[in-house]
Amino acid sequence: MIALALVVPCYNEQEVLPETVDRLTALLARLVEAGQIDAGSRIYLVDDGSRDGTWSLIEAYAAQRMPVVGLKLSRNRGHQNALLAGLFAARGDAIVSIDADLQDDIAIIETMLDRFRQGCDVVYGVRRQRGADTLFKRCTANGFYRVMGWMGAQTIANHADYRLMSRRAIEALKQFGESNLYLRGIIPMLGYRSAIVEYDRSARFAGQSKYPLRRMISLALNAVTSFSVVPLRTISLLGLLVSLGTMVVSVWVLWVALFSSRAVPGWASTVLPIYFLGGVQLLSLGVIGEYVGKLYIEAKGRPRYFVEQVVGD
Ligand code: UDP
Ligand code: MG
Repeated sequence: MIALALVVPCYNEQEVLPETVDRLTALLARLVEAGQIDAGSRIYLVDDGSRDGTWSLIEAYAAQRMPVVGLKLSRNRGHQNALLAGLFAARGDAIVSIDADLQDDIAIIETMLDRFRQGCDVVYGVRRQRGADTLFKRCTANGFYRVMGWMGAQTIANHADYRLMSRRAIEALKQFGESNLYLRGIIPMLGYRSAIVEYDRSARFAGQSKYPLRRMISLALNAVTSFSVVPLRTISLLGLLVSLGTMVVSVWVLWVALFSSRAVPGWASTVLPIYFLGGVQLLSLGVIGEYVGKLYIEAKGRPRYFVEQVVGD
C-alpha cells in the first residue's frame, strides 16, 4: 500500500489553514477508506517563519492526534525552501506538494496516485485556465514561461509547485546542492518518467497572496540565472554587433572626411556613442554582476533552512 505524504508550506496562513487541514484530512480519510493509501499517510505542514497564529494552529492539530506533522522553520526562508524542508522531511512512497491556499484542486490527487501506480515518478498538476487569477498575474505568468522557453530552460507551462513525486525522485532531488533551488526547473531535469494531470485553478480560499510583484520578479530572475547563460551570450552578441556597426560607420566617416567637404566637426557623432555605449556597458555589467552574485552565493554554500521544531511525529 502506498504511504502518501502531503507537503504544505504555510506562511501567515491562519485564515485558510483550518479549512485546508479539514479538507486534506477528509481526503486522506477517504483514500484510506477506499484502500488506496496506507493509514500511516500524513500531512506535513511547514511553517515558514509565520508571524501570525499559524504555528499555534499547527501545534493544536498535532496535539489532537490528527494525521498532521508540523515543522517550524527558524525564520522565513521563502516558498521554495519551505517546500524543500517539507519534501526532505516527509516520509512516504509518494509525496505531493500543494499550497496552503486551496487554489489547487485537491480532487486530482487521486488521479496523480493512479499515474504513480502506473509507474510515473513525477506527476505535474497543470492549470487548465487561470480565470481566478488577476489579468496582471496571468499576463506576467505567461510572459515568464515564454521568456524561460527562449532562454532554453525546460519548464512545464502553467505548472506551479503542485506535483506528486516518488521517493526515488525526492532522493534524486536531494543531490542538487544549490542554495537557490528553483524546483520547477530542476524537477524536469531529473528525467524520470512523468505525467501531467490538468485541473482548474480557483481563487485563494482566504487570506492574501504572499507573492507580491517584488517576489515574483526575484523568482523569475532566479529562474533565469539559475538555468540559462543566454543573457551572457546576448551581451557578447550585442558587443559584436556594436563593433561591426562601428566599423561600417568609421569607413563612411573616413570617406566623407577625405572625399567631400560636408564634414562638420560633429557633436552628435561624438556624444551619442558615448551615451549609447555607456548604456550598453552598464547593462552588460549588470547582467554579468547578476551571475557573479549568484556564484558568490552558491560558493558560500549556506544551509537553506533550519528546522526549529517538529510536532506530531
Ligand atoms: N509561502 C511560504 N513562504 C513564503 C511565501 C509563501 O511558505 O515566504 C507559501 C504560502 O503559504 C502558500 C504558498 O507558499 O502556501 C504559495 O503562496 P501564495 O499562495 O501566496 O502564492 P500565489 O499563489 O499567489 O502565487
Ligand atoms: Mg496561491
